[in-house]
Amino acid sequence: MLAPTVVPALEHLTPHDLVTYFRCPFEMELVRAAHAERTTGRAGTVRTPPDVVPLRHSPMFAPPLGHLAVREGRLDLGDHDRLVYEDAGEDDLPILFPPERIRLDARFSEGHATLVDAELGLAGRPDLVIQRSDGSFVPVEYKSTHLFVGYHEAHGRLFDTVQAIAECRLVEVAFGRRPPVGIVLYGDAKGGGEHEGWVEVPYGEPEEHWLRAVLRQVRDDPVRAPVPAERNCAGCGPNGDGQCRYAAARYEGPLHRVRFAATPRP
Ligand code: SF4
Repeated sequence: MLAPTVVPALEHLTPHDLVTYFRCPFEMELVRAAHAERTTGRAGTVRTPPDVVPLRHSPMFAPPLGHLAVREGRLDLGDHDRLVYEDAGEDDLPILFPPERIRLDARFSEGHATLVDAELGLAGRPDLVIQRSDGSFVPVEYKSTHLFVGYHEAHGRLFDTVQAIAECRLVEVAFGRRPPVGIVLYGDAKGGGEHEGWVEVPYGEPEEHWLRAVLRQVRDDPVRAPVPAERNCAGCGPNGDGQCRYAAARYEGPLHRVRFAATPRP
């Protein structure tokens, strides 16, 4: 008699894992191991071997960027748009809607806010989900401190694009409709909102194919190598904890990446 086929469970990944891998796969390993230790009490495993050869660039395929729409100013909300989801675990989210236009979906309240895609092994929480007047659902990722100036100079903040595409997929699975775009909203809280803006990241077949490919790429990566570079290491949490011997810069705190992203190239 044939033994029953055992299908290995997909390694669980989050949009944040993809963002971290895009910077530095080894950082993703260290962050995930620390999280596992905090939540289970047991030391998390790190896939990266001690004799790994550091890389000059992340191996992740870049996301499609052809049709990003970059907008300055306040987010364009229509009178019939509604807020249908909010990550209650985030305490610095902007108030975009009056109470009468907040209709939170009860399926994702009271400890059930994590959106899960069992097919792709992906789970996470967008900051907000808006239902537009045409019935479409759009995830919003809010970057409170980011200045909007320098967006193009900072290479279109590829990290945020990665996150937006992954959140679109989660919203598609949770709400049953493919979002036409994901929004990254830059609030410039420290600048008093003077340089607010947002980016619409399209979510179509090219983006979904890219997402499926990078999920396979991350899972199939046997080493998850470090990518030492100042732009990565100076804002890397594990570096601040002294966990990385490949670091190319001293740890300067989590806001380093915000400053780096907002600094135009000379
Ligand atoms: S310090 Fe640099 S090389 Fe080391 S894990 Fe962090 S980002 Fe990667």
